[in-house]
Amino acid sequence: MKHGALTLFRLAGIEVRLHFTWFIAFFLIAWSLAQGIFPLQNPGWPDSTYWVLGSTTALLLFGSVLFHEFAHSFMALARGLKVDSITLFVFGGAAALKSEPRTPGDEFLISIVGPASSLLLAAFFWLLGVAIPDSVPAHALVAYLGLINASLALFNLLPGLPLDGGRVFRALIWALTGSMSKGTTVAAFVGQFFAFGFIALGVFLLFSGSFFAGVWTIFIGWFLNGAATSNRRQVSFDESLREIPAASLMRPDPAVVQPANSLDRVVLTMLLRDGVRALPVMQDGRVVGIITVNDVRAVPQHTWSYRTVASAMTPWPLASVSPDDSVLRVMQLMEESAVQQMLVMKDDNVVGLLSRQDIVRFLQLSRELGGKAKLGRRGRAKDPAEHPAG
Ligand SMILES: [Zn+2]
Repeated sequence: MKHGALTLFRLAGIEVRLHFTWFIAFFLIAWSLAQGIFPLQNPGWPDSTYWVLGSTTALLLFGSVLFHEFAHSFMALARGLKVDSITLFVFGGAAALKSEPRTPGDEFLISIVGPASSLLLAAFFWLLGVAIPDSVPAHALVAYLGLINASLALFNLLPGLPLDGGRVFRALIWALTGSMSKGTTVAAFVGQFFAFGFIALGVFLLFSGSFFAGVWTIFIGWFLNGAATSNRRQVSFDESLREIPAASLMRPDPAVVQPANSLDRVVLTMLLRDGVRALPVMQDGRVVGIITVNDVRAVPQHTWSYRTVASAMTPWPLASVSPDDSVLRVMQLMEESAVQQMLVMKDDNVVGLLSRQDIVRFLQLSRELGGKAKLGRRGRAKDPAEHPAG
């Protein structure tokens, strides 16, 4: 269990997870089909038939959602992005990319294939429905799945974040204005508009006697509003980090070690430099790797006096940034390469080291100061050229 979700399987490096809330949705859908929709449409079948049909349909519905999320994921992979996981939960599914699309074109393609795949499934089930006679129970199943996939495609095409249509809309504004954050802000506002629409519709349903549909619709609106709001917050957060160059937050002129040094030497150097958890490894003026607290900890302590840095370090090539890269870019790279720190390099020289901790500390302090702390392009960093490493 991770964040309340079970891992089902992996496909193409993507972990497929089932959130515990999925079981609620599965039961509700299976139940409403078995006890409501199917008996109404096809009276006279045995109760067990309705239940088998209802639960199979609910499973295939989530299979359809998974198909939709894989469409997003495979397009993301094809555009060179990494996909972490797909999670099925009470309101459907979500594919988690490790980083945001870099161009409006990528954003458009990754978003549009979702509804397109649902439409494809709708057509597939519709054709099956034509082939299977009405009297066969399987007809009810494919007819429902055809209808629900078509509705899913249409619902997801609403042009507000966090829905696919909202992402398509954002891509459009992004392409027109050149600014992703403008696109996000506008598409998130439209998303909130739809969210409040759903809440209002839910309240209306509630008072007109459809208690269950009303509550469900209100929940969907509430969920959409939360997601749209967090999209908007993310933009202002990203914007502030986009303004700050790596040079402003990095620790300039970091302590270094050599490949032949012992791990004892590494530990001593880290302890003498407050808060340093990683050291660049240099040989003949060139960086050949990096050694971190975790690398050292992985080696038995009684061997530290004779084990060399070279035997425990992460060797070159390493992900690195330039002093002018934004802290936002640094965070994206850290996320993509799953590291806790980044070398800051200029002309093949290490000019600084920037750790996740340094960024977190900055963000905390900035929040305590009311989010007003500003570090511009000419921040506190000394000119990196003054610190040739090695
Ligand atoms: Zn989608």
